[in-house]
Amino acid sequence: MQIIETINDAIAGRRTRFTFELLPPLKGDGMHKIFEAIDPLMEFDPGYINVTYHREDVKYVEKPGGLLERRIVRRRPGTVGTAGAIMKRYGVEVVPHLICGGLTRYDIEDALIDLDLLGINNVLAMRGDNLRGEHTFSAHPDGHAHACDLVRQIADMNNGVFIDREVDECHHSQFCIGVAGYPEKHAEAPNMEQDLRHLKAKVDAGASYIVTQMSFDNRRILDFIDACRRIGITVPIVPGIKPFSTRAQLSLLPQIFHVDLPEALVAEVLKCKDNKAVREVGIEWAIAQARELKAAGLPVLHFYTMGKTDNMVKIARAVF
Ligand code: FAD
Repeated sequence: MQIIETINDAIAGRRTRFTFELLPPLKGDGMHKIFEAIDPLMEFDPGYINVTYHREDVKYVEKPGGLLERRIVRRRPGTVGTAGAIMKRYGVEVVPHLICGGLTRYDIEDALIDLDLLGINNVLAMRGDNLRGEHTFSAHPDGHAHACDLVRQIADMNNGVFIDREVDECHHSQFCIGVAGYPEKHAEAPNMEQDLRHLKAKVDAGASYIVTQMSFDNRRILDFIDACRRIGITVPIVPGIKPFSTRAQLSLLPQIFHVDLPEALVAEVLKCKDNKAVREVGIEWAIAQARELKAAGLPVLHFYTMGKTDNMVKIARAVF
């Protein structure tokens, strides 16, 4: 099933659903921690579950004599398998993420073929970030530089067009494509107007809905939705909420995700004696955010969990 149906049903029924994203297991781990994270959330009826994609990373290993050897490592492969395992166990729809970074168009096509064969009809299509040590994103020579090109490739495949153009008569995949949007602007965009234009290009290329980067400020989320509507983006927009959880995130989240933390949240976190208390502050903030967005009539809220869902259970119990 395409999750745009879930979103449209929620809109028609004036209901707000929630979804959350999980990471695939570290290489060498099995699925048990993922299942442990999902089990307590199933009673709250998540609309679907996202599985993130992790490109290769760079590691520097010191050699005798002090020289550094640059090694490529992959810590979390298995997005397609994780998504398939979740769908098989819970019967819930899954949305695997797929990125351009580090992949050729053929790698992408192979991943899409695997998803299609597994009966997974959803994908969140993104560009991905630059590798450690690279200042800007550089695409694979036979890959895509922007997410809109990835969206086009998926839409082409839905129309039976494969890269080598060797297939004539074929089964058509039916991927429902989601893309990323940035209420506080993508870090590389020169301004919000350009960023929104690029977002519209992704929708025009075939995306059916948008999921936003985390924001801790509902005003910015709602203003972003208004700005999207003003430039003619009509597809559903799913806000991203991150339950704040450690004191270190005061600097990590702005640094990694280029988002502002509201002063009221920062003040509450600074009062906390330990991270257990910070986690409670994060839960209360996320509950307040989710209640307000639900009252504003948003059909789906997307939660960033980083694989730990004890806080998510409390939020789901309070809001959904
Ligand atoms: P794009 O849409 O390509 O945009 C990137 C930048 O290029 C923007 O500044 C945009 O304005 C600009 N741009 C776009 N098109 C053009 C164009 N034609 N010409 C010039 N400039 C252009 N990353 C992962 O690696 N794995 C994940 O699983 C993952 N999940 C995510 C989930 C969500 C909900 C979100 C919001 C982000 C996620 N990311 C993930 C991070 C994402 O890959 C990064 O934010 C990345 O830097 C941008 O991806 P994008 O798809 O928005 O890129």
